[in-house]
Amino acid sequence: MDKYLVYGNPIKQSKSPFIHTAFAKDTHQDIEYKSQIADPDGFEKAVEAFIHEGGKGANVTAPFKEQAMAMCDELSEHAKYSGAVNTLTFNNGKIYGDTTDGVGLVNDLISHQVQLDGSRILLIGAGGAAKGVILPLLNQNPKQLTLVNRTILKAEDIVLQYSGQPIKAMSFSEANEQVFDIIINATSAGLSGEGVPISSAVITSNTVCYDMTYGKHLTPFLQMATELKAKQVIDGLGMLVGQAAESFYLWRGVRPETQNVLNNLRKELNQ
Ligand code: NDP
Repeated sequence: MDKYLVYGNPIKQSKSPFIHTAFAKDTHQDIEYKSQIADPDGFEKAVEAFIHEGGKGANVTAPFKEQAMAMCDELSEHAKYSGAVNTLTFNNGKIYGDTTDGVGLVNDLISHQVQLDGSRILLIGAGGAAKGVILPLLNQNPKQLTLVNRTILKAEDIVLQYSGQPIKAMSFSEANEQVFDIIINATSAGLSGEGVPISSAVITSNTVCYDMTYGKHLTPFLQMATELKAKQVIDGLGMLVGQAAESFYLWRGVRPETQNVLNNLRKELNQ
């Protein structure tokens, strides 16, 4: 039986073992997938020990995504741009790193029939989650991808990586004067019940509002979007399942069906 792990700290909350075990059952793959906490300074040793035991791959969540990247012998283009890795594959003594969050997001948007080609997208945030989705979003040919962040310098630094691409950084007050088709909240503000400084004028019945954060209740951003009757209001649960599906595909070469797993997770979340 091939063995996989997800590393994080904390890790108890991780839905990855549930998701991958369901994928394995549905696709008849003989794998074991567990979660493992790592000490802040013990991540590398833990991964090395797992490789030694014959582990085939691992997912990596906060706060180890950058450390995971530093351990890799080879990186995907997505991982190089995002500066972080959420999927490690161990093969022939080498570690391959990829990040699947962006593909998970794009696939979730597509599954909600959100048109990305030619769209004006506002991405809020400049942390690991935002960085991981920029290249996959640009690959969908948006008209413009605008980045805003509480610390604007971080957004401006990211934009420098993508010369020649339709991407720019601006302040919240500038963004509040523009029109967007899609607004994606990639900040962790919602986790602490906080909103983001987006003006109500920016959200109209033509705006798709997406928050990467998910939970039993709508985040303050999605609550605001609902009250303003946004075109669509979507949380990040589908992205979570989508990024897992992409990791599973990288490891097993099989694309799992995601809808059942998503429905089951949604049920569990709402209990
Ligand atoms: P980071 O800690 O790397 O980045 C946090 C970001 O949020 C920064 O841009 C930060 O701004 C901003 N921020 C935090 N608090 C506030 C606030 N009160 N007001 C405005 N901006 C704020 O986190 P990640 O990028 O890794 O994760 C961001 C969110 O995305 C998390 O909620 C995470 O759970 C979610 N996520 C969901 C995934 C999914 O599959 N659905 C996958 C990955 C992440 P500043 O730079 O100024 O500090």
